[in-house]
Amino acid sequence: MKKKNKVIFVVGGVMSGVGKGVTTASIAKLIQDRGYVVTALKIDPYINVDAGTMNPTEHGEVFVLADGDETDQDMGNYERYLDVDLRRENYMTTGRVYKTVIERERNLEYGGKCVEVVPHIPLEIIGRIDRAIALARSDVAVVEIGGTVGEYQNILFLEAARMMRRRNDVDACFILVSYLPVPSKVGEMKTKPTQTAARTLNSAGIQADFIVARADRALDEKRKEKIAMFCDVAEENVISAPDADSIYAVPEVFEKQHFTDLILKRLNMESGVRTVRAKEWDKMLRNLRSASEKVNKHPRIGIAGKYFATGDYVLSDSYISVIEAIKHAGTARGVLPEIVWLDSEIYETDNERMFADLRALDGLIVPGGFGMRGIEGKIKAIAYCRENNVPFLGICYGMQMLVVEYARHVAGLKGAHTTEIDANTQYPVIDILPEQRKKLAQRDFGGTMRLGAYEAKLLPDTLAAKLYGNRGKIKERHRHRYEVNPQYIKEMTSAGLVFSATSPDGTLMEIAELPQSKHPFFIGAQFHPEFLSRPLSPHPLFMGLVSACLKK
Ligand code: GLN
Repeated sequence: MKKKNKVIFVVGGVMSGVGKGVTTASIAKLIQDRGYVVTALKIDPYINVDAGTMNPTEHGEVFVLADGDETDQDMGNYERYLDVDLRRENYMTTGRVYKTVIERERNLEYGGKCVEVVPHIPLEIIGRIDRAIALARSDVAVVEIGGTVGEYQNILFLEAARMMRRRNDVDACFILVSYLPVPSKVGEMKTKPTQTAARTLNSAGIQADFIVARADRALDEKRKEKIAMFCDVAEENVISAPDADSIYAVPEVFEKQHFTDLILKRLNMESGVRTVRAKEWDKMLRNLRSASEKVNKHPRIGIAGKYFATGDYVLSDSYISVIEAIKHAGTARGVLPEIVWLDSEIYETDNERMFADLRALDGLIVPGGFGMRGIEGKIKAIAYCRENNVPFLGICYGMQMLVVEYARHVAGLKGAHTTEIDANTQYPVIDILPEQRKKLAQRDFGGTMRLGAYEAKLLPDTLAAKLYGNRGKIKERHRHRYEVNPQYIKEMTSAGLVFSATSPDGTLMEIAELPQSKHPFFIGAQFHPEFLSRPLSPHPLFMGLVSACLKK
């Protein structure tokens, strides 16, 4: 008999933002821990074909896969927990699904049938899940359905899941990740919203097999019984998910409640034996905990970005991979770096504030970005780091600003800029990539940047070569339209800047740095190292930054 496809659907109840992505990633990891090949998928409800055209304050970080797909930040969590490279087939949006169905209809591929929302949209969703499973050759696929049950937007995804479960060649189970509020005036954890969510799921034809009860505290027996009774799940299948001390501890919280065994049993699978990697993860967690117990030794790393504010709230979601990369490197070095959010716009008019902010730091990161807000402030902050031996890591836009700063203040190219901001600058040291010019002119913005993993070669005897362990060649993920203008490379190099990594043909500058004889750690990457940092394999550039901060 052919092996059945095992599919775990994860849906959200009550409200968003309760950690459904981390829950999904943790479940996927736990099953992988037992020796199975696991893949994870995300289905997002919005019409956007990918996450690339959305403002990060709306949607959080755009996570770029190796194949160049611009996806949701949850994909980053899956990759970090599973330590695998996912593909574009693992990610879909309503826009992507409809686009395919409409194109197929236009090509007469439905053979004259009336093409309808149901079943054709769910069938396309199912086809995509099948494809992702086949490509990953996975034993188990964990599929996270974006949004919250009861909302209009994800109803077709639930319908797809329901239809898929009926197939003879599929073993599926459903996990509802719900939220249990503890109203301060009442002082008691309330289960009613979760009961409502479970029933709403019922009305979509789906009965939850498991309920993950997210709350700021653990579930007590009484609430567990209540949820089991009114949501019609076995009591042992109600899993308590209180806030954990680290997102990487969530698998442990689940494992202690035998969640993995219960899921495997539900899917008619063997329990398996915990792998070596699972034990390495436990060790990483122990290191993280002992690091966090240390006081006063943690480096303070500033991030000068701009995508934080939404109304009265500050969100760090836009830089989640950068934050995680810092944590990974910190854990490996036995510290828990403190991240300080800096609003570079203020520095444009307030030098004192900038000096005060930067003096209090052990290192600075200028992350990726677009547009002009806060840009002169960033350039000023980079100049401060260069002149005062403050460890600095520039990422993508941050690397481009490192080059602009160096051009203006050291190479004597006054007023140098990127043409992204100043099309008429006398010294366009950062300019549009040749193949990008046409795309911009045609307003062809979606998914058209230089995206995904590209190889680069390292220049020997440089900081970069040292950090990467003299590997010679590296492969990193990109997302940009602009580059270091080849016309200025000579001038920049004779002024002392080193381009320590380039594309294999030598035309594209991938890393810029100062030699360590001039500065302890001053480096910028045209790519996004944060996308490749994983808990058990921290990224060399972040390792370098954290080490430099500790030496300072
Ligand atoms: N805006 C810059 C570019 O398009 C940098 C992009 C980024 O930081 N991801 O090249």
